[in-house]
Amino acid sequence: MQATFISLGSNEGDRLHWFEKACNLITNRFGTIVNSSSVYETAAWGNINQPDFLNKVILVHTQLSPEDAIATLLDIEVVLGRKRALKWGQRTIDLDILFYGDLVINTPNLTVPHPFIEQRRFTLMPLAEIAPEYIHPVLGTTILELLQNCADTLPVKKYA
Ligand code: ADP
Ligand code: MG
Repeated sequence: MQATFISLGSNEGDRLHWFEKACNLITNRFGTIVNSSSVYETAAWGNINQPDFLNKVILVHTQLSPEDAIATLLDIEVVLGRKRALKWGQRTIDLDILFYGDLVINTPNLTVPHPFIEQRRFTLMPLAEIAPEYIHPVLGTTILELLQNCADTLPVKKYA
């Protein structure tokens, strides 16, 4: 069993509905969700000319290998209607693996830890809510320290 942190993002259609569907599919096909952050809202990062995002992070215990884990998440994205038109473009659902235990993986279709964690307040805020003391296996600092030192100024607020 491995502890994985997965980030969920949506900025198209009924965003909370996509989160609910994704969590159901993750439970059926990926593993047991053992913790979930609140939902946060952020202006789009990277490609700013698009609707605001909702984001959250979940902790999932899985038996899947890293290859099967990423393949399963990408398939769930397709099932939920995601089309890859534009890099960082509008999407019904984005599922990213932030951490897969403390493994460091660099293959063509999987980079773990996720390379943008420390640059994105919208990832660090929900992650810090459920795992503030978790140590980033490459950077060697806690999530809380990464959040305190994050230069990203895009406001991230809890979504009621
Ligand atoms: P982003 O999540 O940066 O907006 P996409 O979701 O469009 O970009 O990109 C997904 C691609 O990134 C997939 O082809 C996937 O194989 C690759 N990828 C590499 N590492 C990861 C990771 N840790 N989590 C999710 N996808 C990853
Ligand atoms: Mg992604």
